[in-house]
Amino acid sequence: MAFNAMVVRKDDQGKTSAQLEQLELDQLPDGDVTVAIEYSTLNYKDGLCLGPGGGLVRNYPHVPGIDFAGTVEASNDARYKAGDKVVLTGWNVGENWWGGYAQKGRVKADWLVPLPQGLSTKDAMAVGTAGFTAMLATMALEDHGLKPENGPVLVTGAAGGVGSVATAILSNLGYEVAGVTGRPETAEYLKSLGATTIVPRNELNETVKRPLESETWAGCIDAVGGEMLARVLGQMKYGTSVAAVGLAGGAHLPATVIPFLLRGVNLLGIDSVRRPYEDRVRAWKRVATDLPMDKLNEMVEPATLKDLPALGKAILAGEVRGRVVVDVN
Ligand code: NDP
Repeated sequence: MAFNAMVVRKDDQGKTSAQLEQLELDQLPDGDVTVAIEYSTLNYKDGLCLGPGGGLVRNYPHVPGIDFAGTVEASNDARYKAGDKVVLTGWNVGENWWGGYAQKGRVKADWLVPLPQGLSTKDAMAVGTAGFTAMLATMALEDHGLKPENGPVLVTGAAGGVGSVATAILSNLGYEVAGVTGRPETAEYLKSLGATTIVPRNELNETVKRPLESETWAGCIDAVGGEMLARVLGQMKYGTSVAAVGLAGGAHLPATVIPFLLRGVNLLGIDSVRRPYEDRVRAWKRVATDLPMDKLNEMVEPATLKDLPALGKAILAGEVRGRVVVDVN
């Protein structure tokens, strides 16, 4: 039976274009589980894969969409049966494997996670890779001793996808949250998510002058990297941790090792793509219990498959706020 998909093709000149097409089930890649996809979402990587590819897409024609949620339609794997609700993030799906911008997908059973109780497929994609990563970062900080009574937690890139969800999760868990943003007009939005302090971006994006500044933060979820991460390291309280999630401000890190040596600060790397299954299950369960869905729904912009070429350009241009949820049907 035919189904709709957003397909990216590459012409003889190497130029890519994305259009809505009808595909047949037997065109899907080999895999253990066929999923009737209900929702997908939009990430920076999706912008690249809808457009020029950014070195992520190896073969064309290609169906982008790095995450999706839906219902199992057919399965050759004992762990899943028709009717099961599932969610997928990572494993380079939507990059070198056909992804979520279609009404059907076929993937390896190892890549799927059963949808936890209390979350709908739409909720799961309001969370998406960005929110899942924010949860992984929160768990990493907790695993290294973070508790609400330790002091304020800093979130950088706060108005972006990861930052918005991180702010909502931390605030809901009882943490005092300070959000760094370069967009002062998002202050009310960030406060509605639970941030109590707004830190202007320009206070933190200058090069490190003193390796240690006053001990301010009990934890940090950093989506920015670059100069900002280097500065934040010097402002951490003794024995605390920074979860490094992203590189919105650059992949470089012009820091000194002094905060590690004199204050025992930890820099924790957060990867969501190849995360082991047990961690995924744990993180999705925590999302279901610890993320206030009403707050999350306020940051959601709805979209359909045909909106994706324009949305892909918008996210690459930094024009998207919060989370986009794509109803593929
Ligand atoms: P968004 O584009 O939604 O948000 C990034 C935010 O960073 C922006 O909203 C902005 O926040 C801030 N920002 C942008 N440019 C700069 C700059 N030059 N200097 C300082 N701050 C800046 O992206 P996501 O939230 O979806 O992702 C954030 C990062 O995390 C990305 O680098 C992404 O690749 C990475 N990521 C990593 C994952 C992993 O597995 N480790 C998974 C998912 C994402 P504001 O407007 O508030 O200043």
